[in-house]
Amino acid sequence: MAEVEITGLEKTYPGGGRPAVRAVSATVADGELLVLLGPSGCGKTTLLRMIAGLESPDAGTIRIGGADITDRPPRERNLSMVFQSYAVFPHRTVAQNIGFGLAMRKAAKPEIESKVKWAAGLLRLEDLLDRYPAQLSGGQRQRVAVARAIVMEPDVLLMDEPLSNLDALLRLQFRAELKKLLSDLGTTCVYVTHDQVEALSLGERVAVMNEGEIVQAGAPLEVYDAPASVFVGGFLGSPPMNFLEAVLDGDGIVIEGQRIAAPPSWEPSGQVLVGVRAETITAETGTGEGALQATAEVVEPLGSATLITALVGGQRLKVQVPADFRIATGDRIRLRPRPDRMSLYDPRTGRVIS
Ligand code: ATP
Repeated sequence: MAEVEITGLEKTYPGGGRPAVRAVSATVADGELLVLLGPSGCGKTTLLRMIAGLESPDAGTIRIGGADITDRPPRERNLSMVFQSYAVFPHRTVAQNIGFGLAMRKAAKPEIESKVKWAAGLLRLEDLLDRYPAQLSGGQRQRVAVARAIVMEPDVLLMDEPLSNLDALLRLQFRAELKKLLSDLGTTCVYVTHDQVEALSLGERVAVMNEGEIVQAGAPLEVYDAPASVFVGGFLGSPPMNFLEAVLDGDGIVIEGQRIAAPPSWEPSGQVLVGVRAETITAETGTGEGALQATAEVVEPLGSATLITALVGGQRLKVQVPADFRIATGDRIRLRPRPDRMSLYDPRTGRVIS
């Protein structure tokens, strides 16, 4: 069992002022893939490096498979790390790069050969084993880095933005391959990214970080559909969740002087922010009753759908409509947010109310 259990982890760098990681607790189940997601500087890499043993925490404990490894050096943790920068050795062949860790462990030559062959097969590198990194594409180099990590059959695999140096198309392809590979191997994995699409697509669970803390953790779609705060809703999703300033009274929601129905469970709360995703709003052209009257300020055809930036009074929101929806800039439209997909936030704290 390679469950990772982190309790109360803290880290402030010398001269760093604010803590890079604050009171972080999390559990990654055996065989699970946890994605750490957050903006630049939120502490993702620091947290990962503490699990790896490359940084020592000021407080807190790290357990792997029940054993407290907080003070153990990296080589005694049986984990492998893949970095964004590949970090492959330029003067060694692909085979030597993949087998490097096994050779350091003084594994027998036939064992190294068979394991290198196994890992190279999984990452489609069989035909490149005699090449040097300079003779590889960026995508192939990153495959070598992943092969080198999995060949060690670690208890835990740590990945720090492993796809971010690849171009968009390659990233998309490798993402799906990596997902399949990690699920086939069943290795416990902690994966750091600031790319929210990657987090949604890869993670069995996503932990969203902000300013050194985990602010929400859960299944990707759970976090996407019901963000715990304005920060999470604004960070996760493309476009980000819309947040409309509104008043919630006994008769419904008032936005820019227009009234729409509120979900039955919502209690009158005065000034609120209504969170609504672009694809959960239905749009109709023309004017009429019982919907938000808006103007299409920008119309962006995306191929698979069309994104409208709509103006409701002085407030802007994004609305995603089917690609065949006929709309032009300046058109009047009516918007109906789906009541079961709206969330309610406190404008002072930014936290979810309902
Ligand atoms: P990114 O996505 O940009 O890599 P991150 O979320 O991984 O960011 P960290 O690299 O963990 O964030 O950094 C967290 C905070 O700690 C930042 O404010 C950063 O400036 C600071 N920090 C990171 N490494 C050091 C260091 N060696 N010395 C001092 N401060 C550091």
